[in-house]
Amino acid sequence: MPTIQCSCGCAAFEEEHKIVICCVCNKPTKYTCADLTASEVRKTKTKVGLSWSCTICNQMGNDINSLKAIIISLKNDILELKNRDSPIVNNFGFEDIIQEINEREKRKSNVIIYNIPECLASSSSDRSKEDKLVVDKALQYVLSLHSETEKD
Ligand SMILES: [Zn+2]
Ligand SMILES: [Zn+2]
Repeated sequence: MPTIQCSCGCAAFEEEHKIVICCVCNKPTKYTCADLTASEVRKTKTKVGLSWSCTICNQMGNDINSLKAIIISLKNDILELKNRDSPIVNNFGFEDIIQEINEREKRKSNVIIYNIPECLASSSSDRSKEDKLVVDKALQYVLSLHSETEKD
């Protein structure tokens, strides 16, 4: 029997008919883990328009919905502030705010390292190479400190 990696994380030997495929990520889930009966699984395979999505994708859908709700409530707050004729909000459009939120989201896992002298190389690829070296050195230093404390 082939081994499958179930989307819930359990590895199991399963026959193909006992697996349901997520319509979003295409990953397999054992129908027992999906809390589905064999006949329900059969329906998702045979009936057009009937699909099943895994917990992870459902969660993602929920996250998107709650983000939507947050954006709508932000929008309403902004409109309300605008109606109050607040000078701050008038200079700061809704789109600017959305852009700022997106920018922050993009940078949320960035690491900022201070006190590194500006690299003088003229090409941007040289600059990024040199910056990488500096970061490498710094990380190696931190890792060496870590392994020293582990020895103790
Ligand atoms: Zn499972
Ligand atoms: Zn999925």
